[in-house]
Amino acid sequence: MGKMKRVALLAQEWQRLKAEGWYWWYPQERPSFVITDWDGNVVEEGPTLGPDEVYCDICNTRVFVRPVPALGSYAVCPDCFFRMTGIRVEEAAYLDGVELMEMEGEELLVLETCSGPAQ
Ligand SMILES: [Zn+2]
Repeated sequence: MGKMKRVALLAQEWQRLKAEGWYWWYPQERPSFVITDWDGNVVEEGPTLGPDEVYCDICNTRVFVRPVPALGSYAVCPDCFFRMTGIRVEEAAYLDGVELMEMEGEELLVLETCSGPAQ
């Protein structure tokens, strides 16, 4: 249920995200989440995620390409990127002069687990 709501929100934001375009994210070690109070003080941090641990904010599959494609504040997998932009990550990277790399061995898993509507 919570997930459905999240996808609906994304659909509403879709036009804005599309207008803003995409960018490339080079993940570092970071907390999985940060909760701040009204003054911006950190109240709670989630467990640390490493640079290789990135999950698609839309379908939750693990993202194995680097840099990670991002739309607005959402990290997305190649399949969701294509569904949302109509452009393949390889093409987008080429347009931006970005060298796209796949983390060894596991990229096929992504393509299998993140299958969207028929293309
Ligand atoms: Zn995805």
